[in-house]
Amino acid sequence: MTDKPVSAPRVRTRFAPSPTGFIHLGNIRSALYPWAFARAQGGDFILRIEDTDLERSTQAAVDVIIEGMAWLGLDHDEGPYYQMQRMNRYKEVLAQMQAAGYVYPCYMSVEELDALRERQMAARQKPRYDGTWRPERDKQLPPVPEGVQPVLRFRNPQGGVVAWDDKVKGRIEISNDELDDLVIARPDGTPTYNFCVVVDDIDMKITHVIRGDDHVNNTPRQINIFRALGHEPPVYAHLPTVLNEQGEKMSKRNGAKPVTQYRDEGYLPDAMVNYLARLGWSHGDDEIFSRVQFLEWFDLDHLGRSAAQFDEAKLRWVNAQHLKAMDDDALAPLVAEQLQKRGIAADERLPAICGLFKDRCDTTVALADWAQAYYADVTPSADDLAKHVTDAVKPAVAALRDRLAAADWTTPAITAAIKDTLAEHGLKMPQLAMPVRVLVMGTPQTPSVDAMLALHRREIVLSRLQNV
Ligand code: GLU
Repeated sequence: MTDKPVSAPRVRTRFAPSPTGFIHLGNIRSALYPWAFARAQGGDFILRIEDTDLERSTQAAVDVIIEGMAWLGLDHDEGPYYQMQRMNRYKEVLAQMQAAGYVYPCYMSVEELDALRERQMAARQKPRYDGTWRPERDKQLPPVPEGVQPVLRFRNPQGGVVAWDDKVKGRIEISNDELDDLVIARPDGTPTYNFCVVVDDIDMKITHVIRGDDHVNNTPRQINIFRALGHEPPVYAHLPTVLNEQGEKMSKRNGAKPVTQYRDEGYLPDAMVNYLARLGWSHGDDEIFSRVQFLEWFDLDHLGRSAAQFDEAKLRWVNAQHLKAMDDDALAPLVAEQLQKRGIAADERLPAICGLFKDRCDTTVALADWAQAYYADVTPSADDLAKHVTDAVKPAVAALRDRLAAADWTTPAITAAIKDTLAEHGLKMPQLAMPVRVLVMGTPQTPSVDAMLALHRREIVLSRLQNV
């Protein structure tokens, strides 16, 4: 940021997921941007698990969040903090606010609230708490009903506006008269969501809140609580929704996949970071960039204002670009992992195999499909056999097999064996290359046949060429 004053505090951002379902790409983008901003600014990134919804929060969801972030390399400097472990702290702050007069007990029953809402709806008013229990100078409060545990409400300022300069949405101003007095503690004393978030953001010294725009409506309330607690709010950046391919808000209910599934499907962490980065942020026309470039470039000034739409074909394309650019030695362990899942152990040939096939693959799964032909049997289709391994070409295949049995096992020697066979049988390259590919790799489309053969063990090639 160019306008950063010299005395600006150290940047501290956070990702604050609720572990109530698996984490999908739409959610993880809300981790990527605060992480990138902290890294780009040399600040701290904090992970906070908002687990106060006891019925819906699960440890399995926490595990997937942590696993997904670790896979993508979104490392945190502090946490995970768990809100459930901070209850005493919230209650302490609540007591301070009550003592300072920012909070008051409200004894309105659910039935009374319902009746109030109905009256307001009938009068075409926006349903809101009417301040019955809000203490005011010279105001007579109703008699406290017996045996009722009150909720605690926040005494929202009256009059004036709450405003902030959102890094994505620009200036937002909400009139305080639009905001009623929020319940910040339930009858059993447990604090509510908006209050916990503010206490955490203060205690964790968060300077920039980067989160989904489903929280825009909470922000004016949170800002008022910040001020009641004697703090200025952080900078806010509310990210537009991520839509799925059908144009609906991405959610697990309409088919979003857990982040970790992309790892299983053969996507590379750097490609995911690249793709997600572009889903709501831009750096000129750059589509493909490394993690290092991303962290060099990332800022809050180029966040997109409109909803981004997920496009799996584009993700695959981005992945293919990263796969191609990746060093074979770095790629091989990821492909080995995919092979291992199939019960196949790779060997020292795998980096070279990756080098030969990566140009035609968009995932490590596709690359493992090619590599598999080097470590496990192949089954050519009857169609390919009938089409390419014809009776006319079989004698040439047998002759090539004999030459390969005697040749040095190097690419030039294999090339020579093929050329000699073509000359001897008066064939063109494809007439021999196609049956060899089908027999050795199980498919007629492979990179150059000599390089493909050279990476095989000779015995395997000889035995597959015998199957004619
Ligand atoms: N726990 C909230 C969520 O998962 C995020 C709250 C925040 O970022 O302030 O939507």
